[in-house]
Amino acid sequence: MPFNHLGLMPALLSNIDKAGYTSPTPIQEATIPLVLKGHDILGCAQTGTGKTAAFALPILQNLSKGSSFHQVIRALVLTPTRELAQQIHDCFVLYGHSLPVRSCVVFGGVGQPAQVEELKKGCDVLVACPGRLLDLMNQGIVSLDHVEIFVLDEADRMLDMGFIHDVRRIAQKVPASHQTLLFSATMPSEVEALAMDLLRNPRTVKVDPVSSPVKAIEQYMYYVDKANKKRLLASILKEDNVVNALVFSRTKYGCDRIVRDLKKAGLDAVAIHGDKSQGARTTALARFKSGECPVLVATDIAARGLDIEGLSHVINYDLPMEPEAYIHRIGRTGRAGHGGTAISFCCIDEYKQLGQVEKLLGFRLPVHESEWPMEITTPSIPAARPPRPASRPADVSLRGEAVTRHPHIRSGLRNQQPSHGLHASAKNAQTVHPKLAKPVQRINRKKHS
Ligand code: AMP
Repeated sequence: MPFNHLGLMPALLSNIDKAGYTSPTPIQEATIPLVLKGHDILGCAQTGTGKTAAFALPILQNLSKGSSFHQVIRALVLTPTRELAQQIHDCFVLYGHSLPVRSCVVFGGVGQPAQVEELKKGCDVLVACPGRLLDLMNQGIVSLDHVEIFVLDEADRMLDMGFIHDVRRIAQKVPASHQTLLFSATMPSEVEALAMDLLRNPRTVKVDPVSSPVKAIEQYMYYVDKANKKRLLASILKEDNVVNALVFSRTKYGCDRIVRDLKKAGLDAVAIHGDKSQGARTTALARFKSGECPVLVATDIAARGLDIEGLSHVINYDLPMEPEAYIHRIGRTGRAGHGGTAISFCCIDEYKQLGQVEKLLGFRLPVHESEWPMEITTPSIPAARPPRPASRPADVSLRGEAVTRHPHIRSGLRNQQPSHGLHASAKNAQTVHPKLAKPVQRINRKKHS
């Protein structure tokens, strides 16, 4: 079906044409007419499917009917990461060229005054990350009293990143009679509950569940020892067919280390992760997107939504702890019908993650061989926690309490002997002491990651 059968106005059709889109993607075909008619939407869609245009185009059309620049926010788009917020805002600007609808974007990590200045010029569509939006609302700078359309993008990611309560607080401030569009790649029960609360008689639009990566992506893997991953990575990146590559590491420290190793091997690379300032994140992404730097090394902060035109390779330097993240990661390539290659490294300690990924995919990843075949076949023993200093007994008893209260602390203790307060910790201390030097060194390093 061509775009002009979806009920879009000529100005939008012209902008779509200028963007180089010839026909709508399945999510656009299904969603645009429903949003134009004012329906609530529950969208189950993978990133890279053209989801942004699926909601941005009908929003622009609905808001531009009879409007000139308004001084009130009429559409709010909430999204989890700063990079996604910027990307969505850029799409509104691109698709909305010459329409009387103004878009602004707000997110944390950068100064507030410039964002406030932009808001003062008038804002019909606000694209926001929850934290900065709440700050601005609390300061009385932003009001949601006139919001007609509320878009919740990447709802499951909001949940993963701990934003779900912020989302609920924001949703409460949106007037009762509004149209809601909720998009999520997966539907965990918390997101389903949120959808039940926010949506009224929604139309469900489903495109490619998260278990099915884009078919145009070639996927394969290498078994390789941890210590040789850096050599294998450098050798792959030097191959002719690698135009640019997004490399995923499990930790922030790992990202920085990979960049250092690549630089030693004569390759230019930049890192992006949560410990970098927003300025550094923006610069790194801009250098990568412009082609100035061919390698971006990232944590899963970049796994979702990031649109990198013509990305040739995604490399999983470490396999993700959650199999769904694999699909999101490799979805950065093969976008909008283009091909791409996803390569994964698996060392002996990552067998479990590999099994989970293959189970989700429903097939075994083809194995390629390299100069550095896996030689270590005994899993390494997880590093033990260092004993608490004996001079701080209060910590020990606190830990006993925390085990029952905080799931993240509980998981950290999973590999230890059952702990019963002071006595058990003393027992752990005895087993760790002889090897103290090594585990302490490792744990200190982890602290910075
Ligand atoms: P999204 O899933 O919204 O991040 O979009 C992924 C990529 O697809 C972006 O680069 C869009 O510019 C592109 N795109 C969106 N809609 C279309 C379309 N109908 N035809 C071709 N490319 C598109």
